[in-house]
Amino acid sequence: MLRFLDTLFIESLGFFGGRLQASTGKSDMKPEDKEVIIIPERCKGCGFCIEFCPQYILNKTTEINSKGYHLVYISNDSKCTKCDMCGMVCPDFAIGVVDIEKEPCRS
Ligand code: SF4
Ligand code: SF4
Repeated sequence: MLRFLDTLFIESLGFFGGRLQASTGKSDMKPEDKEVIIIPERCKGCGFCIEFCPQYILNKTTEINSKGYHLVYISNDSKCTKCDMCGMVCPDFAIGVVDIEKEPCRS
């Protein structure tokens, strides 16, 4: 699933932490414990993520952000390996893989 987030999320340590773990391979989390997120207002529609996705599952939407750029979406989520290649090539930190937040344990 591709989740759209507001610009405040970019400040979240979770975003960078998740990307760092994914890119260094140090995370032992499974792909199903991760998700791809996009921060629409950061996207400039360059298409790098679309070109470099090894699964060829990213496409442009008809939706545009406030700057007039078409956003990206995942056309086939089941094929996403959560490799974070999209996040690594995005020049604007607009897309990337993060760990899905788990509900805190209640005792
Ligand atoms: S995480 Fe990998 S497979 Fe999934 S959309 Fe990004 S580049 Fe494609
Ligand atoms: S690489 Fe980043 S800025 Fe370029 S289209 Fe993809 S999400 Fe948007």
